[in-house]
Amino acid sequence: MEKEVVSKNFIEQIIDKDLAEGVCDTVRTRFPPEPNGYLHIGHAKSILLNYGLAQKYNGKFNMRFDDTNPTKEKVEFVESIKEDIRWLGADWEDRLFFASDYFPQMYEGAVKLIKKGKAYVCDLTAEEIREYRGTLKEPGRESPYRNRSVEENLRLFEEMKEGKYKDGEKVLRAKIDMASPNMNMRDPVIYRVAHMQHHNTGDTWCIYPMYDYAHPVEDAIEGITHSICTLEFEDHRPLYDWVVRELEYPHPPKQIEFAKLYLNNVVTGKRYIKKLVEDGIVDGWDDPRLVSIAALRRRGFTPRSIQTFVELCGVSKANSITDYAMLEYCIREDLKLQCARLMAVVDPIQLVIDNYPEGQTEYLEAPNNMENPEMGSRQIHFGRTLYIEREDFMETPVKKYKRLYPGNEVRLMNAYFVTCTGLEKDEAGNVTVVHCTYDPETRGGNAPDGRKVKGTIHWVAAHEAKEAEVRLYENIIDEEKGVYNEEDGSLNLNPNSLQVRTAYVEPALLEAKPYDRFQFVRNGFFCADAHDSRLGAPVFNRIVSLKSSFKLPKA
Ligand code: ATP
Ligand code: MG
Repeated sequence: MEKEVVSKNFIEQIIDKDLAEGVCDTVRTRFPPEPNGYLHIGHAKSILLNYGLAQKYNGKFNMRFDDTNPTKEKVEFVESIKEDIRWLGADWEDRLFFASDYFPQMYEGAVKLIKKGKAYVCDLTAEEIREYRGTLKEPGRESPYRNRSVEENLRLFEEMKEGKYKDGEKVLRAKIDMASPNMNMRDPVIYRVAHMQHHNTGDTWCIYPMYDYAHPVEDAIEGITHSICTLEFEDHRPLYDWVVRELEYPHPPKQIEFAKLYLNNVVTGKRYIKKLVEDGIVDGWDDPRLVSIAALRRRGFTPRSIQTFVELCGVSKANSITDYAMLEYCIREDLKLQCARLMAVVDPIQLVIDNYPEGQTEYLEAPNNMENPEMGSRQIHFGRTLYIEREDFMETPVKKYKRLYPGNEVRLMNAYFVTCTGLEKDEAGNVTVVHCTYDPETRGGNAPDGRKVKGTIHWVAAHEAKEAEVRLYENIIDEEKGVYNEEDGSLNLNPNSLQVRTAYVEPALLEAKPYDRFQFVRNGFFCADAHDSRLGAPVFNRIVSLKSSFKLPKA
């Protein structure tokens, strides 16, 4: 057997080194979402990366809501995030934390900074602060309040906490370096006054810490060893390090950045998903056309397909865009051996077998999954009138067309060879019925004389077919135009992203329960919708079609 070569990603290499050098003796990671929206496929990458590292190193993975900003956060999002993370398979055990529970320690930390002469209360307005900050080319100017005494700062900061000041009247700033080439180090604001209700702490606080100050404190309190975040925080790392150093935490966490996951032709930004939801363009945060985790779940993706996808993506320091087809590849691979393959005709047209006796029916045997014999077989009903896909017939065939056309013989899957003999049309010229004859000698799909046919098509018997709603999806974004309209920044939507059809299906499919998955032969993988299915009347979402343009690159 070939020996597997395990190559480590750059984060694992950093961790190996830290463990070898005694920088830390265990690994503790966290996932810190802001509860201001639903999680999406990008977050799944971060979750599985953090959880996976904790697993690999026998460490611990914490779940922490970064709820330090009282404006946008909602309890609804807290619950959905927990559900999504559990579903993905990441287990925080008993370590579910809320950053807002650390407000007292954050306040203490701020007092400590003031006492060390490392923070001061500033009365400049937000606009003045921006002006004083300078530019990338010019150093900033020091605030006139920068040299307040420790005593005065302590008193003013306490008064801020007591509610003596209005929003924006005063802030607490770290005293670092107004000439730093890194703008984040030019005396950043670390506390602001905001008279707002917080979902967890109510009106206990009217001052709230800024993200760049709060985050390292949260990590340090929880003993996080490796604080993994995305590239946009790279420039914030010196501030992160400054905070843990000045607060003298014995085991400073280490921030490591990696590139966000971007998928082509889908909308990942929370802001844009929110807009689609609010504008009523999609049916909520879990509309199957979205790539929020809730949407992927509703559409029929499995946790395992997402895990495989994230692994294939790898971890990198360089931004890149991943092809959506890779995600489709992962779900097909996951489902192909585990789903029963049944027949459903999504765009039906009648096929009448003129030489099949009127009123006669019979049972035929069909394997449940050709590639997985363990799944057994079932009996399917056959009769004189069937439904086939409209696209499996052409009155005048195009070149290389191998399916049904006048004079051509094809195989009806698991049944007989049939030869097309004619057709009927309505007044508008649309084909309504296709006629054929069958060869009784070819039962089961093979001719005893060894003659071959080039096409095999699927069908359902009209006398027992059931109707079911089927939803076919395309990208919500118009691929040819790109995601955003260059002129006004709006989204270029694909008007065909959802198509609803009434399909004829094998009767067994009517018993499908929410999240049951099937392959509809030749049409793709489908999942019973968890919202709109009713007992005995499932609605099927197409997860993915069977055709693939994606090839796994050779390792
Ligand atoms: P969005 O950009 O979609 O609004 P966000 O970064 O604001 O997302 P947070 O709740 O702050 O959302 O993110 C929680 C964690 O998920 C952060 O550590 C963030 O870096 C990570 N994350 C967010 N988007 C992606 C992505 N596309 N790929 C990988 N990780 C991501
Ligand atoms: Mg964010």
